[in-house]
Amino acid sequence: MSDWTLPKGDLMAGKRGIVMGVANDKSIAWGIASQLAAQGAEIAFTFQGEALEKRVRPLAESVGSQILLECDVTNDAQLDAVFDRLKTVWGGIDFLVHAIAFSDKNELKGSFVENTTRENFLRTMDISAFSWVACGKRAAALMKPGGSMVTLTYLGAERVLPSYNVMGVAKAALEACTRYMARDLGPSGLRVNAISAGPMRTLALAGIQGGRGLVSTGREWSLMKEDTSMEGIAGCALWLLSDLGRSTTGEVVHVDAGFHVVGLPEGVDAG
Ligand code: NAP
Repeated sequence: MSDWTLPKGDLMAGKRGIVMGVANDKSIAWGIASQLAAQGAEIAFTFQGEALEKRVRPLAESVGSQILLECDVTNDAQLDAVFDRLKTVWGGIDFLVHAIAFSDKNELKGSFVENTTRENFLRTMDISAFSWVACGKRAAALMKPGGSMVTLTYLGAERVLPSYNVMGVAKAALEACTRYMARDLGPSGLRVNAISAGPMRTLALAGIQGGRGLVSTGREWSLMKEDTSMEGIAGCALWLLSDLGRSTTGEVVHVDAGFHVVGLPEGVDAG
């Protein structure tokens, strides 16, 4: 299945939206954006800082994007400026992709109890959970019924995994935020969902001690005995962000080759 890619089509034709969290061409946000573009979506991108602009601009241009804006999600003025600009240029948007997380990598290892500081706990929650609410609120103000938003989460929200530590706590909050946002925005015809992706080799994964081990264990233990594919994550985002997903909201959809349902892996002596 590794050489399979989503076909081109027009599932997103006429839809405009914003993708936040592209750091490079390995980013999950980029995997999603490129497939949304292949289905006819018009996309605005954000980046954080000049160094990232150099990497994100060519990617954005490769899918014909006309809007590339700086946005540190801890900065309310920058958030306001981004969504104000979308309102000015487009009038409204149809979708939001939020693929942003951060924690001090010194706390993504060893003991959660011993290593977690108040400062990094709050910063991790701010960037990795609250920013979803902050972006979703501003995006919703620009959406009409049919609008849809997606964030990215991980199994560490539900289960204990080595090193994931405070990021697991933030992902649990992110998933709860998804449900409360879906409640508030549902009556306006807007949908809010999260994709719980299996481990992918990105910059974010590199910050987690033993991150590579999560990939190999994910493959070995998964029901499908394979890595999570970017195409699978992007395909799920396409479903949730297009009209195909019109009755799904408040959901956390796992895209991890079935890893999350495994209690004990094959080969472990359970007797
Ligand atoms: P990535 O390429 O490193 O993307 C993470 C993005 O978050 C980067 O663009 C990063 O920008 C951005 N970010 C961090 N702090 C920010 C801030 N204050 N303001 C604005 N942007 C900020 O890694 P990724 O794996 O694709 O991560 C995307 C999402 O998927 C994250 O929520 C991650 O937790 C989630 N996820 C990842 C995996 C995985 O295995 N990789 C699995 C499940 C879920 P900077 O580079 O400038 O910090």
